[in-house]
Amino acid sequence: MRVGIIGGGQLGMMLAETLKKYDAYVIALDPNPLCSCKYVCDEIIVSEYNDLANLKKLANRVDVITYEFENVSAEALIYLNENYNMPQGIKPLFDSQNRIREKENAINNGLSPVEFYRVLSKDDLLKGINKIGYPCVYKTTTLGYDGHGQVVLRSDNDIDLVTKYLGGEGILEKYLKYDYEASVILVRDNKEIVAFPPSYNIHKDGILDLSVAGLLDDSISEKLINKSKEFMNSCNYYGILAIEYFVKDGEIYFNEMAPRPHNSGHYTIEGCNISQYEELARFLLKKPLVEPKLISKTVMKNILGEDLENKCPFGFWHDYHKKDARPKRKMGHITFTDTSLYDYNQKYKKYFI
Ligand code: ADP
Ligand code: MG
Repeated sequence: MRVGIIGGGQLGMMLAETLKKYDAYVIALDPNPLCSCKYVCDEIIVSEYNDLANLKKLANRVDVITYEFENVSAEALIYLNENYNMPQGIKPLFDSQNRIREKENAINNGLSPVEFYRVLSKDDLLKGINKIGYPCVYKTTTLGYDGHGQVVLRSDNDIDLVTKYLGGEGILEKYLKYDYEASVILVRDNKEIVAFPPSYNIHKDGILDLSVAGLLDDSISEKLINKSKEFMNSCNYYGILAIEYFVKDGEIYFNEMAPRPHNSGHYTIEGCNISQYEELARFLLKKPLVEPKLISKTVMKNILGEDLENKCPFGFWHDYHKKDARPKRKMGHITFTDTSLYDYNQKYKKYFI
């Protein structure tokens, strides 16, 4: 089988590594000729994500198409979906591309986000603040990631920080003082739906720092998994889906979703009997899904540009082969198996700032 991946970042790289184990021929499309996928894929098509001629070139050379990057234009996706084999379809991607659409879709399919309002003007912003109160968070509705395009508002003094975004579409959300964040990754084919053990996630400055598997108690894990499965079935999505939640007083609040492998699922490579990448590979190659199980308590630590100097001699190191190590840029990750959050803090935390 020949598989085409739109996007050549680290998620595509780890998917390609897995696909190669299944003897697939893998081509990725990415604007960066030195993208992470270059080191594992059979070919790279160097192109902008929205270049229809190059997307067609990719599609014509493969049996199945998937995406690891969310911001491909709707027009290009509709064309690919109608004319080629993209088993995940476009709906989950379309629904996730705009934060307001994403949250309304969550409500329509049984999940609850925190209180939110659409913001176009300063007037909308002030009305929203009036209803929600402080703290609240303004986010651009499109193209945000790793906390980019977000402003946390704690008092009237912070209102000016939003000014540069006004005019474009934004969302104002209640800033929840959650107990913790958690995420669930699911894969659904024509026969069944499987879910990975939910991870407990710790963010630093809006970027995932640690994912911890095997920490949540059974009742909350079951609730997260059951609600997520009901949601995915109700939306009638296929393929892979990651859902991020806030958890407070045992209640779960939908934050956002992504129809691609997810950073918080990197732990599954060493921590589970099957990884998120392998489950997606099996979906794409039409092989039966496997029920995911945790092998041991596992902690995944993201390595950003500024962490690279801290060479930790332990754990499973995944290098994304990125050329320039900018601060806050994800350069790799380290997975510690047989490690609880307590063990991580005792033994490994000291290697990182
Ligand atoms: P993205 O991951 O696309 O940058 P998110 O909406 O997931 O955007 O925000 C990044 C992180 O910022 C979240 O994981 C969480 O730590 C924090 N955050 C975002 N929205 C809220 C909120 N409404 N309440 C509390 N924390 C939030
Ligand atoms: Mg997020």
